[in-house]
Amino acid sequence: MRLYDKVSIITGGGKGIGRGISQRFAQEGAQVVIAQRDPETAQRLVHEIEASGGRASFIPTDVSIPEHVEHLVQETMERFAQIDILVNNAGITRCWEPVLEMSLESWQRVIDVNLTGVFLCSQAVARHMARREYGRIINIGSVASFMPQSNAAHYCAAKGGLIMLTKSLALDLSPYNILVNAVAPGAIFTERSVEDGGGGLDKIPLGRQGKVEELAAAVLFLASDEAGYIQGQTLTVDGGWLLT
Ligand code: NDP
Repeated sequence: MRLYDKVSIITGGGKGIGRGISQRFAQEGAQVVIAQRDPETAQRLVHEIEASGGRASFIPTDVSIPEHVEHLVQETMERFAQIDILVNNAGITRCWEPVLEMSLESWQRVIDVNLTGVFLCSQAVARHMARREYGRIINIGSVASFMPQSNAAHYCAAKGGLIMLTKSLALDLSPYNILVNAVAPGAIFTERSVEDGGGGLDKIPLGRQGKVEELAAAVLFLASDEAGYIQGQTLTVDGGWLLT
């Protein structure tokens, strides 16, 4: 077990990619804390993980609200006494709108969740990690961190900012032995992709969508002891999409 007894917080950990990360982390022996708003999918996953012998719990959280993030961290500390790993996966994902029609509210909401939420969670968790001089933070970016997508100015700006935030955090937190890296998914197959109807596979050199398990494996690697000398990097998991 590669994460035996590690305490991990996974934001957005009850659905889609986050669900896959929670499941894999639990299989590897981690205590998984799912932090999202929706209790239904989170509780269902907690029961699934527990039924297969893993350990998981749910703490209702909106990552864009500082008080929620403080509560998440305090509650996790009270229950488990330490936080070893944070995966900043939560994000608003279905927000396509042309820039000429984008309201300030809409821009702000996506920046608040997809970028400021990463800052808030990382800062709050890193304060505890710093005391133990151990920590792993993995931020989930996107191919949109590097390549603009149409009708998603807020999303692309947030995901681009997330990569520089990753590097800045890595620099500031290195003295505390906290490693901060990112994973940038391409098209990953989730329940949402089914709803969205998939498509666009011609752009992907490997000719298929990625599996949640393939994305979770990359996150696991960065969270594991094997990645102990990797700092401030982004691992792209996109079937070659960014090569085109
Ligand atoms: P989903 O839309 O399926 O899931 C998003 C998750 O984020 C949910 O668990 C949701 O839970 C949570 N979330 C959203 N807003 C908030 C909030 N304010 N506070 C706390 N949690 C929140 O997305 P995916 O699984 O597809 O994507 C996960 C991550 O991967 C995102 O960061 C996305 O940008 C990135 N990504 C995904 C790709 C893909 O192909 N799937 C491609 C590139 C990047 P709830 O609703 O309960 O809050």
